Amino acid sequence: MEAPIGPGPAGMNLDNIKVCARCGLRYDWRKSPSTLKMTYCSSLCEFGDLGFTMDALMKLQRAERPAAVEKEAAPAV
Ligand SMILES: [Zn+2]
Repeated sequence: MEAPIGPGPAGMNLDNIKVCARCGLRYDWRKSPSTLKMTYCSSLCEFGDLGFTMDALMKLQRAERPAAVEKEAAPAV
């Protein structure tokens, strides 16, 4: 698709256009599902390049440590 990239009604802004480090695709990083959205256009590319996704990594870390027991903040009354 030869769509001109520039400011427009679609909200495309050059500032948000990144080139995927893996597939070389130009994409709007704000719309990238990748955790490293500034680097990869998709989590597939992220996974392909790193061998894992940051998302999976963070889930692992979260699973390792038990959920913090958060005390409810006292109501400010
Ligand atoms: Zn990509």
